[in-house]
Amino acid sequence: MSTSANNDPFSPDLTQPDLRVFCIHCGGTYRMDEIVYEARFGGSELWRCRNKHCHGAGYDFDIFLESEWLEGQKGHSQAGNS
Ligand SMILES: [Zn+2]
Repeated sequence: MSTSANNDPFSPDLTQPDLRVFCIHCGGTYRMDEIVYEARFGGSELWRCRNKHCHGAGYDFDIFLESEWLEGQKGHSQAGNS
């Protein structure tokens, strides 16, 4: 993955806002541009889940590209070839 050239490692790739993301905290899926950007008191900023009650935060940390997440799940469920 080298499409996101952003200096914030946890920011979504907003050049592709139609992509769907998956939050591992609440299990919700939604459009990438629905991830909420939150500037916190103290200067640090945060990308967090759109669901108010959810504490999921950080793209590629708690919130993943849905397609990548599904790929990962597939990979884990398949038997290892050791
Ligand atoms: Zn969430």
